[in-house]
Amino acid sequence: MLGGMQDWPLRIMRILDHAAREHGTRELVSLYADGTVTRTDWAGIQRDSRKLAAALERLGVRPGDRVATLAMNHSRHVVAWYGTIGMGGIIHTINPRLFDDQLAYIANHAEDRILFYDRAFAPLVERLKPRWTTIEKFICFDPAPGEPGFENLIDEEAGDYQWREGDEREPAMLCYTSGTTGDPKGVLYEHRSTVLQAMTLTSGDLFELTARAVVLPVVPMFHAAAWGLPFATAIAGGKMVFSADYNPSVMCDLMRAEKVSHTAGVPTVWLALIAHVEATDGDLASLRVVHIGGAAAPRSMIEWFRDRGIRVGHAWGMTEMSPLGTCGAPLGNWDELDDGAQLDYLCRQGRVPFGVELRTVDDAGAVLPRDGKASGRLQARGPWVLRQYFQDERGPVIDAEGWFDTGDVAILHADGVMQITDRSKDVIKSGGEWISSIELENAAVGCPGVAEAAAVAVAHPKWDERPLLLVVRKPGAQIGAEEILAHLADHVAKWWLPDEIVFVDSLPHTATGKLLKTALREQYRDYRLRTAA
Ligand code: AMP
Repeated sequence: MLGGMQDWPLRIMRILDHAAREHGTRELVSLYADGTVTRTDWAGIQRDSRKLAAALERLGVRPGDRVATLAMNHSRHVVAWYGTIGMGGIIHTINPRLFDDQLAYIANHAEDRILFYDRAFAPLVERLKPRWTTIEKFICFDPAPGEPGFENLIDEEAGDYQWREGDEREPAMLCYTSGTTGDPKGVLYEHRSTVLQAMTLTSGDLFELTARAVVLPVVPMFHAAAWGLPFATAIAGGKMVFSADYNPSVMCDLMRAEKVSHTAGVPTVWLALIAHVEATDGDLASLRVVHIGGAAAPRSMIEWFRDRGIRVGHAWGMTEMSPLGTCGAPLGNWDELDDGAQLDYLCRQGRVPFGVELRTVDDAGAVLPRDGKASGRLQARGPWVLRQYFQDERGPVIDAEGWFDTGDVAILHADGVMQITDRSKDVIKSGGEWISSIELENAAVGCPGVAEAAAVAVAHPKWDERPLLLVVRKPGAQIGAEEILAHLADHVAKWWLPDEIVFVDSLPHTATGKLLKTALREQYRDYRLRTAA
């Protein structure tokens, strides 16, 4: 027997229709790389998406075909998402910061047919054209004056296109993971998974999005769908602000001018922004909520925002989870906690919303207790968690009960709070015990004079592995190893202290702005610690 309610498939285009109908005049402001600012609104996005959907059909794109973007954040990119999805296509966001080999592999593996790109990436497009075997048409979002591009394409259409309907489990979006090992892997999001997560993101315990919110996703639209913000903000009816320019001074000016209240991005971006605000004695004006995720947020960073009355949501997720897994929203007893205890809580990765289940297991697969002590492999399941990679001959990568192994190592606390201690590949195993590279790095970044730090495992004859800490000093800082060790000794167990500290000019980052541990491990694999002599 079925219930008495209507069948209303959870399709992404219903999100845009809602935003256009109920919040049609709420703005989307875009700052392009050449300094141009454009303004549209949710009704305009709907109109242009209908035009684009019709234009794609005219170009011969069929439902299920992949349409790629190689672009930063702006409203034309948003139209490319909704327009492609609206005609049944799959929008494939490519990360332009990847290496040529990865860029060639990804577009060919996805069998992309059309590529929309920013003019800033034109040299990259020209370089890769001979290697891309399936792309038939290249369309520039922001061509040089007089050149044809995105606007010409959609201007030829009337804007009365009717969205293609279908099953809510149909695919809508494709994102490849950064791929620290082997070839990048595609994660194919569905209409339902995207809508469910976007609805969840608007809740108070998560991104706290309302119709009053002014949202600037610092996280790029090619990094796990900008963490769902272009969908969730449309549901809430908020205003969106985009910047294709990551210069902290440009970003800060834009935030002030457009009264940005909500933003989200990886820690590396905030390091630069904080340095700029401090150097210019500036402020972040109307900013109320900042979400930090993609890598562990250092305590000193969380403190910095809190001191300025800005709520920090420390979020954990991954491309394979659409990407949201957990977020550090206050627990019921929040007001009873003192400042230090609240900070301790925020330094962890938070707890799950309805729709995500987590557990930790040991190496033999036995489920570990939620006791705040046992550390093990973190597994997840839920309607927006990966079942199988795109066109991957291995088939489903989940166990019989639906658990997906995240590759992270974590501790679950009795109150449900999750604490990432490492990527399974990054843990430092000293005398059979695990040292958390993340905790070492975050403690080091809290030391005055330290701009960035990375902890890597180096082979040791007695202990198997011991930590080596690589440190980038802040400009002009004179800090030495002794001072950093003294600082660390107040924050981590004595046996966790790095055997050596090496000062470097810079550290390598992945295409999404995280520390590139694989490169560091490779570079320091044969490093001989003095303690190993
Ligand atoms: P990606 O799919 O590129 O976003 O990478 C996902 C991975 O980033 C996760 O599996 C974690 O290892 C790491 N990560 C994401 N958020 C956090 C966080 N808040 N703290 C620590 N690691 C994180």
